[in-house]
Amino acid sequence: MLKIIDHHCHFEQLTQQEQHAALADFHVVGVASDYLSCCQLLALKQHSAQLDICLGIHPEHLDHYHDFPRVAELIKQHQSDIIGIGEIGLPYFSLVDMPAQQRIEYFKRGLILFEQFIKLANQLVLPVNLHCVGDETWQAIECLNRYNIERALFHWFAGSGDLMKAISDKGWFISVSPDVITNTDYQNAVKNIPKTCLCLESDGPWPYEGQRGVPKMMLAVADKLGSMFDCTAQDIITISQNNAQILWRIEALNSH
Ligand SMILES: [Zn+2]
Repeated sequence: MLKIIDHHCHFEQLTQQEQHAALADFHVVGVASDYLSCCQLLALKQHSAQLDICLGIHPEHLDHYHDFPRVAELIKQHQSDIIGIGEIGLPYFSLVDMPAQQRIEYFKRGLILFEQFIKLANQLVLPVNLHCVGDETWQAIECLNRYNIERALFHWFAGSGDLMKAISDKGWFISVSPDVITNTDYQNAVKNIPKTCLCLESDGPWPYEGQRGVPKMMLAVADKLGSMFDCTAQDIITISQNNAQILWRIEALNSH
């Protein structure tokens, strides 16, 4: 039976019970945050065909940037065990409270790290699972174009309509988190996402209204998006599933 795919989940951070429940009903794309989580995901992947993984360094984790050489080594070594590179992207939230000069310096470091990962994605022909927040996303897009990255997911993206159009024009995708169920600002941003590039994600275990994020929440997200995009929840799920096949090429696993 075809299981609903969670395009972006910090699977190794779920409790064992949550992991078990998640894989019983869903197919999960786990994303890494640092070297340790890369190792944990690789170990977890060995036990389940319902889990696919992306390795990378979360762009907001500034103190883990120095791990790039060993994370890159893991990616190369385990090329056949992974389906993409992520979570990677550009720092935003971690720079907000910094003095201007420091912010510029850290952003520069973020760009350098991002380009290193994108170069690797190009060499290995792997898709990317991206964290990009504001207008700096234009710089991320420029980098993706420079390295001819054909498959990319912008997770929980809530930037401008112009950016959403640029993402969709390239044939890339945007995943919507459970925050859309209650956050009206986010709903207003999500309305601008071209329907054909919609994907579902939990970003678990990130909490929503005090509840830990788990893949099951995607069902309520599909309901909400159905009402927002004037179609059924099943239509939304079908779009997300089809996009998963293009993005991660995991259709063969759907029969497990
Ligand atoms: Zn994430």
